[in-house]
Amino acid sequence: MKPAPFEYFRPQSVEEAIDLLAKHGPDAKPLAGGQSLIPAMNFRLAAPTVLVDLNEIAGLSGVAQYDGGLRIGAMTRHRTLEHSEIVAREAPLVAAAMPFVAHAAIRTRGTLGGSLAHADPAAELPAVLLALDAALTLRGRDRSRAVRAADFFTGLFTTTLEPGELLTEVAIPPDPPRSACAFQELSRRHGDYALAGVAVLVAVDERGRCATARIALLSVADRPVLAEHASRALAGERPTADLIRGAAEAAAAHDIDPPGDIHASSAYRRHLAAVLTRRALERAFHSLETP
Ligand SMILES: Cc1cc2nc3c(=O)[nH]c(=O)nc-3n(C[C@H](O)[C@H](O)[C@H](O)COP(=O)(O)OP(=O)(O)OC[C@H]3O[C@@H](n4cnc5c(N)ncnc54)[C@H](O)[C@@H]3O)c2cc1C
Repeated sequence: MKPAPFEYFRPQSVEEAIDLLAKHGPDAKPLAGGQSLIPAMNFRLAAPTVLVDLNEIAGLSGVAQYDGGLRIGAMTRHRTLEHSEIVAREAPLVAAAMPFVAHAAIRTRGTLGGSLAHADPAAELPAVLLALDAALTLRGRDRSRAVRAADFFTGLFTTTLEPGELLTEVAIPPDPPRSACAFQELSRRHGDYALAGVAVLVAVDERGRCATARIALLSVADRPVLAEHASRALAGERPTADLIRGAAEAAAAHDIDPPGDIHASSAYRRHLAAVLTRRALERAFHSLETP
């Protein structure tokens, strides 16, 4: 099918884009990589009357370091994140997840901002940024606000973005000392959306006890979920195999209530969540040299 008719604008600056979005109201949509929006328009699942193409706005792309953390522009392509040395060094959890995001052809066009704004609960980057406690900058005509990833995703394909607002940048704080990360997912074919997945960031104190455990699950709810029961099970403890197994089981039993669909039943997703969380935690903790 072809999309419903729409007007098309190609602004050269963030200010111009925000003006266009404000002027045309809720029927106007930003166009980033187009890998989700254009298929939705072709299937008439979305019918914006105005498209504001962000692809000419140079200031929206790029990766930069700040105070030990990273700032990543919303229009930064998945492929750039996948191959960036700075990302691999400063935000290894992002780098670990990138090969799981769709296929190479889609990664050359898809963008960080598009993935976050689209808010597919099975997408990798929303869960990764939740685990990393990233902050998102949302700019409208009259205000700019920073929203933590934990507050950004509000439901199925739904975020706190308001009409007229643009996601411009993501700030990833520096990893804590003695930290490690891991990403695990299972999909039916490589490049498909995950049946379930998990992103973890852990850190230990000088005595080798768990000081941080941020565990974000994907494809188990209407949005990415921070597994708080699992984190509490690990806090302050030495990460033994039994403790890790117990934490992973707590995540599956108490932190999620996964939906079932034609791809996987609720019970299977719960089982996957436990297995993948255990594996991710084992991998992350084992990569740390604990006393
Ligand atoms: C076959 C296929 C398989 C895929 N598999 C996966 C997968 O396994 N994992 C995964 O994570 N993704 C997957 N994707 C989606 C892909 O990663 C998309 O690139 C991504 O979801 C959307 O990014 P985009 O830049 O293409 O955004 P677009 O499609 O351009 O936009 C998506 C939505 O976000 C809004 N938007 C975009 N940028 C902004 C902004 N800066 N501010 C505010 N709103 C904005 C748009 O208005 C639109 O509503 C797949 C896509 C396809 C076609």
